[in-house]
Amino acid sequence: MVKQKILFVAHCVLNTASKVVMYNNEEIAQEEALRRRFVHAALDSGVQLIQLPCPEFTLYGSKRWGHTSDQFDNPFFRRHCRKLLKRPLDEAAAYLADPERFELLGFVGIDGSPSCGVDYTCTGPWGGNLTSRNDLPAVLSQVTLIPMAGIFFDEVKKLLAKRGLILSCTGLFAPEPDKVMSLLCGRENGSKQKTTIKRFNS
Ligand code: SF4
Repeated sequence: MVKQKILFVAHCVLNTASKVVMYNNEEIAQEEALRRRFVHAALDSGVQLIQLPCPEFTLYGSKRWGHTSDQFDNPFFRRHCRKLLKRPLDEAAAYLADPERFELLGFVGIDGSPSCGVDYTCTGPWGGNLTSRNDLPAVLSQVTLIPMAGIFFDEVKKLLAKRGLILSCTGLFAPEPDKVMSLLCGRENGSKQKTTIKRFNS
């Protein structure tokens, strides 16, 4: 029997309407090109895609501001993430329990996101009331891309470990396209390219 390959993907891999409104057109175009390439290749190779819930849209809706991971790193947001992840992780456990039929290739996040970053997330001392601040540009400019997971995928990794489920997590990231594309071949994480981006505009 040919095994069915399955990937769990961040919600916006299949539905970009969930994303925060972005204004950096070049960055958007690069991510969108890789997203389309990845989704087309997954469908063409028969990989089944399971859509994770979007932790930000389900809490703050479509008009939310962009955030940094510092703002989401609190017990309430983490609890929200764990609640959303219960069902997908039950699904993962169910597929893993039938290895004759299914091969789980892992989880795909969105690098740079404060929630769904896997290898990179954005950090910065954002917060507070935006009105009447005369230092806003200086505060906003302090956002930085760091080599850590966002809060949602940090919870994914912790919950996988807690349940003893061995599955890799990989970020979709335009500057490092090979790592997500190579997932479709069943190779773990692919070749790790080093990125020198210092800032990320969420
Ligand atoms: S929180 Fe995650 S799923 Fe939602 S829009 Fe951001 S990266 Fe995509």
